[in-house]
Amino acid sequence: MKLNEIKLTNPYLKLPEECYTRVKPTPLNNTFLIHANEEVAKLLDIDIEELYSDAFVDFVNGILELEGSDTFAMCYAGHQFGHFVPRLGDGRAINIGTINNLHLQLKGAGQTRYSRSGDGRAVLRSSIREYLMSEAMHGLGIEGTRAFALIGSEHKVYREDWETGAIVLRVSPSWIRFGTFEYFAHKKKYEELEALADYAIAESYPHLVDEPNKYLHFFTEVVGKTAILMAKWQAVGFNHGVMNTDNMSIAGLTIDYGPYAFLDDYDFQYICNHTDQNGRYSFGNQPNVGEWNLQALMHALAPMVSIEKLEKILDHYGRLYTDRYLYLMSKKLGLDTLKDSDLDLVKHFLGMMQGLNIDYTLFFRTLSHYNGDRTALLKLGLYHKPMNDWLDSYDERLKDNTSTIEERQRAMLLTNPKFVLKNYILQEAIDAAKEGDFTVVDALFEIAKNPYAEHEQHERWAGSTPDEFKNKKLSCSS
Ligand code: AMP
Ligand code: MG
Repeated sequence: MKLNEIKLTNPYLKLPEECYTRVKPTPLNNTFLIHANEEVAKLLDIDIEELYSDAFVDFVNGILELEGSDTFAMCYAGHQFGHFVPRLGDGRAINIGTINNLHLQLKGAGQTRYSRSGDGRAVLRSSIREYLMSEAMHGLGIEGTRAFALIGSEHKVYREDWETGAIVLRVSPSWIRFGTFEYFAHKKKYEELEALADYAIAESYPHLVDEPNKYLHFFTEVVGKTAILMAKWQAVGFNHGVMNTDNMSIAGLTIDYGPYAFLDDYDFQYICNHTDQNGRYSFGNQPNVGEWNLQALMHALAPMVSIEKLEKILDHYGRLYTDRYLYLMSKKLGLDTLKDSDLDLVKHFLGMMQGLNIDYTLFFRTLSHYNGDRTALLKLGLYHKPMNDWLDSYDERLKDNTSTIEERQRAMLLTNPKFVLKNYILQEAIDAAKEGDFTVVDALFEIAKNPYAEHEQHERWAGSTPDEFKNKKLSCSS
């Protein structure tokens, strides 16, 4: 399809008016395309050539309105660092319409009713981070919103210093957050709450639409999806950094990339967010916060379903999480099947990693080549005894595998990425981009798409993080 053949729909606008506010994007000055995601264009049936036209930049800049365009910002509340904020909302995201059940949203396209004191903008560095990370998550098989296009500009935006503004055009099958439900529950607007629940069910869990206890089933689904998402983050070593309930998707998607990080050296207590002084959103605490956030959602749903029933569902969260996490770890370790005793093997492994300061991603990639010769693995840490002890248990456990060594290695190489977009790598892309060079963005996008491939020309990004960049914290300002 050509851009001018697209007909946008706006299903969210059928909800009560309290759910959103209509708003037009405020364009940036002197914009240019930095990158467009051809795979997402295919999902939207948009011709690839269209992505490289001037009209497309205008589209991402909010100037070109397509047929059916009716732009709006969504209203939500949220618990930020444990404190309830009754009204947040899309302060710098503007929804521009739906194609093939994917909702398109511009991030950084100007102020909305929910901007509070913010300028409605997103700076180049944080937009590059969101753009690349969305693709990286997809490449890793972790559910999340997708990035369709990234434009830069000469528009001045002030943060700690003057920077330039950018816009990410992102798409998602759902933009509804736990905090969207909290908004209406807090205001005791129960009709709107129910309308929102019906909408969310139809959008993300259509098999429940005609179920008699659909709201309870809905919560069950969200609990399950959240447990799975947390297990995936923990297994791959991803720290989101701002797990406020307004950044939690009711569809179990990773959303809103801020000061996130992939682990460098394994550290259960790692905190990527500079403002998170108590480590509420530390790497190791994410599964607990997932449950805390589900509790907040549960209270928001309580006007529609008995709290006792909801609590019973939430009681399963811990088991669901642990089962999935252990399963994923068993796959990372190359085990054919999961046994009860593997919990001990994984605990032993995590203890060893915590003590040895070993790069998490590099360890698993090296283990994926393991054939009994320990040399490469032992080189990763300073002390050999803890690793030898763990490898003794691992060797013993591998005897129960029925697959051959080669089969195990092949499976592990498709499970353990060679590359994750660590912050120091993203910073290289940002530093080059600030000088007008987007080749590093292009290269990282290719890596993000397939992190399991060898990409020999980028070998240096597959090693452990240089010491000066390890386990740093990131500022939230974006
Ligand atoms: P975040 O922590 O990025 O998910 O943002 C939390 C809330 O602040 C959301 O309601 C955002 O829309 C809003 N927000 C963040 N940055 C800005 C900005 N520059 N302008 C307006 N609103 C913003
Ligand atoms: Mg957010």
